[in-house]
Amino acid sequence: MSAAYNNQLVYVIIFNRLTLLSSARNERGRWGRESDGTCSFDDVCVDMERVFSFSALIFVLMIVSSEVSGFPKLIHRSLEENVGITLNQITEPENVSKAIELDELTIAHKILERVPLIDGHNDLPHVIRLLAESQLASFNLTDLVDKKPWSTDPTSHTDILRLRQGKIGAQFWVAYTSCKTQHNDSPQKAIEQIDLIYRLIDLYADTFQLATTAQEIEDIFALGKIASLIGVEGGHAIGNSLGVLRTFYRLGVRYMTLTHSCPTPWADNSQLDNPGQAPIHDGLSGFGEAIVQEMNRLGMMVDISHVSVSTMEDVLNVSKAPVIFSHSGAFSVCNNTRNVPDHILRRLAKNGGIIMVVFYNEFVACDQSASLYHVVRHIQHIRNVIGVDYIGLGGDFNGVDRVPTDLEDVSKYPNLFAELLRQGWSEKDLEKLAGKNMLRVMRRVEQVKMELFPMEPIEEWIPTEDLQPEHKQCLTEYS
Ligand SMILES: [Zn+2]
Repeated sequence: MSAAYNNQLVYVIIFNRLTLLSSARNERGRWGRESDGTCSFDDVCVDMERVFSFSALIFVLMIVSSEVSGFPKLIHRSLEENVGITLNQITEPENVSKAIELDELTIAHKILERVPLIDGHNDLPHVIRLLAESQLASFNLTDLVDKKPWSTDPTSHTDILRLRQGKIGAQFWVAYTSCKTQHNDSPQKAIEQIDLIYRLIDLYADTFQLATTAQEIEDIFALGKIASLIGVEGGHAIGNSLGVLRTFYRLGVRYMTLTHSCPTPWADNSQLDNPGQAPIHDGLSGFGEAIVQEMNRLGMMVDISHVSVSTMEDVLNVSKAPVIFSHSGAFSVCNNTRNVPDHILRRLAKNGGIIMVVFYNEFVACDQSASLYHVVRHIQHIRNVIGVDYIGLGGDFNGVDRVPTDLEDVSKYPNLFAELLRQGWSEKDLEKLAGKNMLRVMRRVEQVKMELFPMEPIEEWIPTEDLQPEHKQCLTEYS
């Protein structure tokens, strides 16, 4: 149901009420004219004619004013309070793009012009690897809407024009390595993806600039560019080596997702929470705890999207710094193990971290199809459980092949902010969701790094007994 239809419905209800009032009076013969046209009670007849003329005038004014103001919302609110019809029943539309009123989209754009919208997870580098063999000279990232194979690939949601339309202020570009690379060439693949991100930033230097701190995000945003950050997805990318982890930090990596869809020899992944599956480490191993401590020392954020609940708990026990979910939803809203249960959300708030809400249909709707409203439900649920200070956005664009209606690509973020405005969010709260919460998390992670400064690098190796024979097949001599 569209908003315009809703407004008309309200007018019809009001007009109907006036007509009923009029006919009711006439039937009782108190205020109507007699059949010969004379008035039974002259004074009242005159008064009622005035009343109905005045009502008609008000009715016309309401229609006119509704075109230029939010007047219908007052009527909706009044219906909600006095008649018991809820706002949602009246206003939840099927098609957001038609329903979102221009003033709300305008406010959304203004918010995203003053606060950087920081998205936690975009897999564009992976899609460039798949569709263009990482060759940036073979295509122009400015506009891919009508360019094959990008235009027909369901995992292609990003180009520069759409990033600008979507008002992205800062993006964590993901250096992803698949589980197939584990115990094989995963560090090489991760470094190649980091190299690709650097080449993207260099080639489109008018648009992108590397950021490694919260302050750099703000400075680059002030220049009108998109602050570009690097996250590594899949802890297997470090090849069980703290030396590789430290080198990633020096290359500008500012978060690492501890697992992808497979366990590492030091952390359990979310799929192990599925029915019929059994934990391997029941969370983090001792070496896994050392990795988290070293990430704290380096100032690299610990991303616990993709990990099992036990791993989430262990990380929250060990980490001295806030942790992040770079792309996850709320388990209570959609029972997928990639999402976060309420008791972990509460612990996340105590930790001062952030959950950046994912847009993938299977995670937001537990279905192949979804709409922006499913994403809103996750955001509202998390807000209800832990408040507005721990929520961000991590769409997972280019990392998934099914995205919600009205959030089809990176140009659509303002729709989400406009809808939340419509649902009563303040501009201050939307600034937090957009980027202020993440900036706070990053600043605290940077501060913990300073506090841990006298701490020496952790020099231990993964214990040989933690590695199964099949883990070592591609390794040369261990020492
Ligand atoms: Zn992922």
